[in-house]
Amino acid sequence: MIQVYIGLGSNLGLPEKQIQAACSRLATLADTVLIKCSSLYKSQPMGPQDQPDYVNAVALIETALSPDTLLQQTQLIESQQGRIRKANRWGPRTLDLDLLLFGQQQIDNEHLRVPHAGMQQREFVLYPLFEIAPDLILPCGEKLADLVMACPINGLQKMAHSVLI
Ligand code: ATP
Ligand code: MG
Ligand code: MG
Repeated sequence: MIQVYIGLGSNLGLPEKQIQAACSRLATLADTVLIKCSSLYKSQPMGPQDQPDYVNAVALIETALSPDTLLQQTQLIESQQGRIRKANRWGPRTLDLDLLLFGQQQIDNEHLRVPHAGMQQREFVLYPLFEIAPDLILPCGEKLADLVMACPINGLQKMAHSVLI
């Protein structure tokens, strides 16, 4: 079993419910155990600003699935929860599931890049990840704690409700 961190985001269709539903789905994946999920965080949209704020969280699973199979499964969950892919990047969506870290693997193929590109600069990834994995060291050797300290909080707010697992 490999420890995999997944970034969750939503800004349409009752975002808190979308994140809760996605975590419940992750828990039912074959050969996979949902270990924990961070608090929910409210964040400013990246890219186009004419869209609602986001709700984000980071989950830790342990899985025996391959990276490609897990990506297929997370994309299935996205589409089953109403994600419609549009041409414009970073537009509003009911659900985004990004594979942040897959053990200590570094993957770069047509469909998948891990560690997730951009995670090192995104407050809505780093802060929830730090909440559940304060001692984490990335495959590049960077300490998560150092990345968090270097990352402006950009209005990120921890929300009152948590995901039930
Ligand atoms: P960003 O990846 O910058 O957060 P996004 O999440 O909105 O943007 P998507 O539309 O969800 O982007 O995904 C675009 C493509 O990214 C997917 O088709 C997928 O194949 C690819 N991809 C590459 N690496 C990853 C990863 N680590 N996790 C999820 N998708 C990935
Ligand atoms: Mg994303
Ligand atoms: Mg994505």
